[in-house]
Amino acid sequence: MTVHFPFDNTYARLPDRFYARLAPTSVSAPKLIRLNRDLALQLRLDPERLSSSEGVELLCGNRVPDGAEPIAMAYAGHQFGNFVPQLGDGRAILLGEVVDQDGIRRDIQLKGSGPTPFSRRGDGRAALGPVLREYLISEAMAALGVPTTRALAAVLTGETVVRETLLPGAVLTRVASSHIRVGTFQFFAARQDVEGLRLLADYVIGRYYPEAAESDRPYRTLLDKVIAAQADLIARWLHIGFVHGVMNTDNMSIAGETIDYGPCAFMDTYDPATVFSSIDQHGRYAYGNQPRIGLWNLTRLAETLLPLLSEDQEKAVADANAALEAFSGRFEAAYHTGLRRKLGLLSEREEDLTLAGDLLKAMAENQADFTLTFRRLSDAAAGPEGDEVVRNLFINPLAYDAWATRWRERLSLEPQDGASRRAAMQAVNPAFIPRNHRVEAVIQAAVERGDFAPFEEFLTVLSRPYEDQPAFAHYSEPPEPNQRVYRTFCGT
Ligand code: AMP
Ligand code: MG
Repeated sequence: MTVHFPFDNTYARLPDRFYARLAPTSVSAPKLIRLNRDLALQLRLDPERLSSSEGVELLCGNRVPDGAEPIAMAYAGHQFGNFVPQLGDGRAILLGEVVDQDGIRRDIQLKGSGPTPFSRRGDGRAALGPVLREYLISEAMAALGVPTTRALAAVLTGETVVRETLLPGAVLTRVASSHIRVGTFQFFAARQDVEGLRLLADYVIGRYYPEAAESDRPYRTLLDKVIAAQADLIARWLHIGFVHGVMNTDNMSIAGETIDYGPCAFMDTYDPATVFSSIDQHGRYAYGNQPRIGLWNLTRLAETLLPLLSEDQEKAVADANAALEAFSGRFEAAYHTGLRRKLGLLSEREEDLTLAGDLLKAMAENQADFTLTFRRLSDAAAGPEGDEVVRNLFINPLAYDAWATRWRERLSLEPQDGASRRAAMQAVNPAFIPRNHRVEAVIQAAVERGDFAPFEEFLTVLSRPYEDQPAFAHYSEPPEPNQRVYRTFCGT
């Protein structure tokens, strides 16, 4: 019984300087933690075979599947604002690309699969905790409808990795429509390798933005498209309270997917200054700062494209600036549309943004839970009898009452009836997010007791975030004060 991957690799056709060719490093005693069967089918892979012992040998890197052309990709990046000319896949190996059921080309990558020429001082490995974290949160994001990389499988290696303590090692199989990052462009720009840049840009256009090839100015259109995709993505993050945590340019996907789940986390009580990552000491990547950082990163991308935009430096700069100027408008339009929908407003009125802003302000002042406030508003939309459970989330419930009166007046101008409004609101205001205290508890059970049942159950709950799931209602609850998680770690 052999596992067949329908590989059709294109990145490995690019010149040698784009990557290093190497196979994953073997591990001693692989054991499958979980295979994402639905995703396997979507990728035209056979879940039975993939979970067989031979399949697990492939998913841990002990064997390279037929047709794979394993490579570690080269990239650079700004980390917390400091430029590093060479980063690259230090602990990941791209096995190849498959074309999925919908005809979309997807990268299949092993993460934690051993050292590569880009490892610097790292061991090339991943600990179990961060692998489970990425699995849970990336799959939750997919179920929430946010563009993201996916998790196909998690495998224990049977080996330990040395972090602050000895921890069980694991390998994650990550699926992405792209592993090309802003930092990939920076890699060539830093070497003044204009030919490399052009090849990369043409590759990205061909694979992700074929419309750009039809335009008069393909590279400008490429830049416009990436800017739009990132503006939309960051708006989606804000709608669900997601804090990426390490928006370095090497962690920003050119295809507009959320990538690199390290210290990311969801906000409980609403506060735009929320930061979880232990290494983000100045709040550079705080929840409310994400749009600004997005633009900063895209500005770095635009800089790399200057030689392709025009031979005339001044023209190129003007062109790049014009493209970047569109970011704020695009982001705000996406963010505001989503906010309106969260409040049950389908029509547009000028005062809506003040109404939304005043709710957020009252939430911040009263430490209201972000996710629950909006979810319960969906019930309150049907009538004031639903108010009690929302107002209780505010330290001073009167702050909600004053706002709710204005909201109801505004709702009365909308054509829908209460029931359809409630349904529409529930479809955008999740009941279930991967709350940090739950994520940590699941990881702890797995790492300390080898118990993966909580991980499985949590994944099931997170796969239907917009449904009520009464049996699992406790998963929607915010942490008790003693359960609150204030810090998260990259764990690399
Ligand atoms: P990240 O913070 O995960 O985005 O990683 C930043 C850079 O560090 C990338 O080049 C990674 O490949 C590299 N890196 C992270 N962890 C390790 C590790 N354990 N071994 C080798 N390289 C690593
Ligand atoms: Mg990274």
